Amino acid sequence: MEERTAAPALALPHAPDDRRERALDILCSDELEPIVELVAWSMGQDRFGVRAHDGCVIYGRVRDGHGWSYSIESVDGRNPLADQATGRFTGIDQLRASPYPDRRANSYPHAYDELAQIFDHRDAPDVYAVHTAAHNWEERGGNRGEHGSVDSVQSRAVFLAAGSGIRSLGEQDRSCRIIDIAPTVLALLGARPSGGVGPNGGPRADALLARQDGEIIPELIDPAASPPAHVVCVLIDGCNLDVARDLAARGEAPSLARLIATGSLFTHGAIASSPTVTLPNHTSAITGSQPAHHGILHNAWRDRATGARIVTESPATWAFAMNNLSSDVETLFAAVARSVPGARSAAINEPCDTGADFSTFAHVRAGAMPAIDSAGSGVPHANAEHTAADEGYSWCSMIDHAAVNQFVQQWSDGPPTFTWINFTLVDTAGHKGGPDSPIARAAIHDTDARLGELLATIDDSGKSGSTAIFVLSDHGMEDTDPAVKGDWQAALDAAGIPVTDEQGFLYLTA
Ligand SMILES: [Zn+2]
Repeated sequence: MEERTAAPALALPHAPDDRRERALDILCSDELEPIVELVAWSMGQDRFGVRAHDGCVIYGRVRDGHGWSYSIESVDGRNPLADQATGRFTGIDQLRASPYPDRRANSYPHAYDELAQIFDHRDAPDVYAVHTAAHNWEERGGNRGEHGSVDSVQSRAVFLAAGSGIRSLGEQDRSCRIIDIAPTVLALLGARPSGGVGPNGGPRADALLARQDGEIIPELIDPAASPPAHVVCVLIDGCNLDVARDLAARGEAPSLARLIATGSLFTHGAIASSPTVTLPNHTSAITGSQPAHHGILHNAWRDRATGARIVTESPATWAFAMNNLSSDVETLFAAVARSVPGARSAAINEPCDTGADFSTFAHVRAGAMPAIDSAGSGVPHANAEHTAADEGYSWCSMIDHAAVNQFVQQWSDGPPTFTWINFTLVDTAGHKGGPDSPIARAAIHDTDARLGELLATIDDSGKSGSTAIFVLSDHGMEDTDPAVKGDWQAALDAAGIPVTDEQGFLYLTA
């Protein structure tokens, strides 16, 4: 009988506590201080540890309604998560004055929640190591711009809304979270609560989605207006909010400026889910749930049951990433279909496309690549200098132009109830040069012109008065310091600690 109740053997078992402690000592050592911002781990039973070079916090969580409340159990030295301000380093002047800030000057919005949720997933690592802002991480190409950290700049995503049913509040000094976007879109469309599961895994009567970790942003929705007939969400991957605002203010991003002037923008942004990387956050925005709950845990991780490597972010796996989507969550595409009679939806260049009536990646999975112009120089709104000099800039310009063409086609077929479109160029350019570099600013300028084509298409369809538009990014982008190199692998190897490292997800098992 005992065999039947025993847990199955894990191919990648959890590391014993003493091995984890030795790894934590190394990761928080003087030697690795320049590259390790903090490390987080689960202590079981809703208890978590977070440690940095100069201090450690042990905290716990208890159920509080359908969510969690957090309390500090003990602090040794400085509490690495003490500062969770959402508005640190906002505005272009502060961004420029504080490149790659030190951990003692930084803030970590919603960090108790963001770090804890990672460990709700069965494949969570033994230790999650977060890079410092400065770390010029050679494993990821030694990029001048990076994201992935729980710090304020890397977790700050663009968020603005405008148009039918949206209040015109201008620039508001506040934030929301990436997970708030999906429930807000549904509420705007007039969806009624259907009941679901909340952040702590228990029932949530007011849920608009099957799993709803986020909250409706009621201040955005005009209570006197009827729901819009159409919602368009434009995701600008890796766009730094403060640089985008600066370009809009200078007249170099007129489409964004038009939407800011007529709608509402949160100057502290939408706080991304951890890890603050692409596919986990596209999926969080589209499902209203956290990475550990929707199942797209990271760019890559390990299946503890089989030991297999799961990779979502690669050219070969990108279109198939949603095979890992939890059946417990609902996408906006599915929820809109359920909530709005006769609704039609389109997912343009968006890997998180489950339930969409039209999807670019459904065509890719079927072996039919949508038409992409072959010559970057012939692509409209593509900066000539950067297109000629940079292959990534050229490729992403073509992809994003193809996305505009698909949008125009979808809207000429009769505007979808819900359209989601993903632009890739700004992330590529931000990695290359850093968020405030000439190449990143050119990318925002070009992408703004493509946004202008979307707005013109909506205007020309005669539907602008019944269409709401959201513009968001999936995470921030922060400068790294090219002088700060190194990796933790060698130090862990030298101590004889087995480690499998998936971009900071450390599995301490051979
Ligand atoms: Zn991204």
